Amino acid sequence: MPELPEVETIKRDLGELVVGARVEDVEIPSPVLVEHPSREDFVRRLRGARAAGARRRAKHLIVDLDSGDALVLQLKIGGQLLLVPPVKEPATALMLVLRLEGGRSLFLRDETGFTRARLLDAGELERRFEDLGPEPLGDEFRPGYLREKLGGRRARIKGLLLDQKVVAGVGNIYVDEALFDARIHPTRKANTLTEDEWTRLQAAVKENLRAGIEHRGTTFSLYRDVLGRKGHHQDHLKVFVQAGKPCPGGCGGKVVKEKVGGRATFLCPACQPEDGSGEAVRLEFG
Ligand SMILES: [Zn+2]
Repeated sequence: MPELPEVETIKRDLGELVVGARVEDVEIPSPVLVEHPSREDFVRRLRGARAAGARRRAKHLIVDLDSGDALVLQLKIGGQLLLVPPVKEPATALMLVLRLEGGRSLFLRDETGFTRARLLDAGELERRFEDLGPEPLGDEFRPGYLREKLGGRRARIKGLLLDQKVVAGVGNIYVDEALFDARIHPTRKANTLTEDEWTRLQAAVKENLRAGIEHRGTTFSLYRDVLGRKGHHQDHLKVFVQAGKPCPGGCGGKVVKEKVGGRATFLCPACQPEDGSGEAVRLEFG
């Protein structure tokens, strides 16, 4: 499921490989892909436009066009954007094909079918993103932000971190990793976190996203970069999908899987105690 690091990797690939190219033709094999404007207008406004830049906002991939429009893709669970060639032309699960000048094409495919596309003008783009929280790797996510924003809330910390209005682009993988690094149980109520814990948590969110980008994303099954390659952050995960393995925190315990707010959640119960007595518990386990 592409989160911030995966979409960031695709964005950087597009910047290197595709930006500057003109869209010569547009095919939309999927009847559900285009959410705005009409399918006809989508094709008419894309055809002939040049990709002027690639950006990311939260988990949205944005291709700016020289016409002033922006192509916005939400890859959701299994969207793949592949450059053909060098990637071999895919034959299944196609949702969108952009024929580029010079004989290359961008193929959008998604075995889960959840990917959605919009073509927005500048005003529509701004309105689309106005409710999103700050980018966790940007200046707005300044020290103290999470504590100020959430410190009075009684809801569980994991659910709050997944709220895109609180912080944009963080999903299930990186939130579990960050909570482990900060030694905070996912069901802790936000208003019980200490100042120290908020500091650790904010640093851990940034650190894990940075590591995910450095490793070009996490691939469990579907995620690919623009050249069809898997990410390798899955080789560096500490708790996410690691249930039954020894805790990498050195406590001697094992990583467990639980459900929190309906989401599969991975944690170490010894390093991330539910009552928040992390320091004390670590001493007891000595
Ligand atoms: Zn542990």
